[in-house]
Amino acid sequence: MIMRPNSIEARDAASQMHPMVNFRQYEKSGGLVIESGEGIYVFDNSGKRYIEAMAGLWSVAVGFSEPRLKEAACAQMDKLPYYHTFSYKTHGPSIELAEKLLELAPVPMSKVHFTSSGSEANDLTCKMVWYRSNALGKPDKKKIIGREKGYHGVTIAAGSITGLPLNHGSFDLPLDRMKHTSCPSYVHFGRPGETEAEFTRRMLQDLEDLIEREGPETIAAFWGEPVMGAGGVLIPPAGYWEGVQKILRKHDILLVADEVICGFGRTGKMFGCQSLGIEPDALVVSKQISSSYMPISAILVNDRFYQPIADESARIGSFGHGFTASGHPVAAAVALENIRIIEERDLVGNAAALSGQFKAGLEKLAEHPLVHSSRSLGLIGALEIHPWPDLPASTAAKAVAAMVEEEGVICRSVGEALCFCPPLIITGDQLDDLFAAVGRALDRLAAERPAAG
Ligand code: PMP
Repeated sequence: MIMRPNSIEARDAASQMHPMVNFRQYEKSGGLVIESGEGIYVFDNSGKRYIEAMAGLWSVAVGFSEPRLKEAACAQMDKLPYYHTFSYKTHGPSIELAEKLLELAPVPMSKVHFTSSGSEANDLTCKMVWYRSNALGKPDKKKIIGREKGYHGVTIAAGSITGLPLNHGSFDLPLDRMKHTSCPSYVHFGRPGETEAEFTRRMLQDLEDLIEREGPETIAAFWGEPVMGAGGVLIPPAGYWEGVQKILRKHDILLVADEVICGFGRTGKMFGCQSLGIEPDALVVSKQISSSYMPISAILVNDRFYQPIADESARIGSFGHGFTASGHPVAAAVALENIRIIEERDLVGNAAALSGQFKAGLEKLAEHPLVHSSRSLGLIGALEIHPWPDLPASTAAKAVAAMVEEEGVICRSVGEALCFCPPLIITGDQLDDLFAAVGRALDRLAAERPAAG
């Protein structure tokens, strides 16, 4: 794209530092200006329409023009636009939302604490894990195990639990207390000749070995997304989560499930934990909780997690943590209405009902010579792109994503993968349109670059 002087693109490039870009490249190219949204579509400032096949950032479950969320925000703005939840004050929307989350929780949970982003929620959960260990008189039980390619956000603790080099390098992360075990993606890390069952056993052995090396008594918690999202939609093999939970129980290690992407229907059940048989001690949600119309996140904790923390707060006199926007009433009201819509329209059922068509569509595209394989669960999936003779697969995947965008679909390349995570309101016909556009893009690329594949 060539930026005209004083265009909105040029003003943007001159004024902002955007997340996840190469700043030097951005200064030259600028970004795509999105102006409006309608259902599963967004429109850029030239009027071009795109299927938003990533639901924004894995998050806009109800689509980009839901009037009930606007009305819920306005009604709450009229009544009480802001109040906090500090120091023995509270308000209706936060109470109702906490009760709703406890009702929906996949396993019995005791309490909810609100934050505004996935990173904040994971960061605080980590601090609460440390607080809890101190409360239990175990000051050495502080290490956290995350996974390579796991993503839990970018603040200092959450970014340290994240297992992606891009979020560590030059930021002086991870913190020493954060350790990372192997990524359970058979497609990427299975060895030649290794069966999936053997691979799963090796992943579990790696975890056992790490715990033994570090000392089980020093490890407080294990963090995991049911399905890894930002690492490239990595779905663990059968038996993985069951095995992980056995190991954690044996060593008295808490399990934190990061449901920031999987929560509220993405995997075809209300929570990814239900799709994968996970029984966590703490559960972190954000994104689809409000379809990202307002920034809000929440941490749900069980009694085993909560009680020692409550004791410690009583001993010290107060729980020394909180944000000005914790449990923001407008964000909470929007989240409640969003969850009502998800339930009333059975969007979780829609994700489950369309999951077969979604899988079949990706599998068909995987027959294309530029594509290596596909994977999906519910309405989250990816195509693995082949390297080209002159390009590594990750660069090829970027080129495919750019061509797919030309064809009117926004998806996202992560490493060698092209990720798809459409709004949960998508219909079968719209899924067909999405995959037809991806097919056209692959054909155009194959024609333009006969050497590819
Ligand atoms: N956890 C997971 C699983 C995520 O996918 C993300 C964001 N993609 C986060 C945490 C961080 O959320 P946020 O960007 O709201 O800080």
